[in-house]
Formats: sequence, structure tokens, C-alpha cells
Amino acid sequence: MSLNIVNNATCTFCGCVCDDIELHANEERIVEAKRACVLGKAWFLNHTAEHLYPDALIDGKEATVEEAIQAAAEYLDAADLPLVYGMSNITCEAQREAVALGERLGGVVDSHTSL
Ligand code: SF4
Repeated sequence: MSLNIVNNATCTFCGCVCDDIELHANEERIVEAKRACVLGKAWFLNHTAEHLYPDALIDGKEATVEEAIQAAAEYLDAADLPLVYGMSNITCEAQREAVALGERLGGVVDSHTSL
């Protein structure tokens, strides 16, 4: 089986955002993550292409992404002081969007590192 090799992949696990990772992947999973630290290796090697979970949940019930976006918009619109929280395992572009959302809502932005 041939491996797909991706150079200069970015690890978003801890926040250092190392962007020189070399990934080797077969059809289902990453089998090697060169230059990643032990945390990065564990993160990359434990993700698969299997579809283990529904795309979205609303109140614990399976939903479409469109339904989930509509529900999220309604929750955020009704909130007095929405908190945009997390962002530890997402890209810089997604973090930028999260901050913009927090500003647009007049809410608060925080990351898991405040714990
Ligand atoms: S490779 Fe290690 S240090 Fe670099 S972002 Fe991933 S977890 Fe952090």
C-alpha cells in the first residue's frame, strides 16, 4: 500500500502551531508524523478518516449541519453575554473567525488556557 506524504503540515494541538510536520498516511490514518513532539504524534496518529460521529447534534439528537448552524444562531442571538470559547485545536483562520464572531455578538472570547 502506498503512503500519501504531506510536507509542512501544521499541528494545532498545543498552541505552538509547529508547521514543519511531515505526515505519512494510508487510506485510513496517519501512520507517521516526522518532527512532531510526543503530544503531536499522539494527536496525529489517533485520528482516522472513519466517520465515527454524526456531523452535528442538537440537544443530543443527530442533526444536519444547516440545522445546527440555525440552532446555534438562535442561541447566540438570545444570549445576553455569549462566550466564544475553546479554539485550541483549530486553525489560525478559524480562530480569526471566532474572534470576529465574538466581536460581532458583543460577547467574550476565551481559550482553554485560562483554566
Ligand atoms: S508538534 Fe508538539 S509542540 Fe508542536 S504544535 Fe504539536 S503538540 Fe505542540
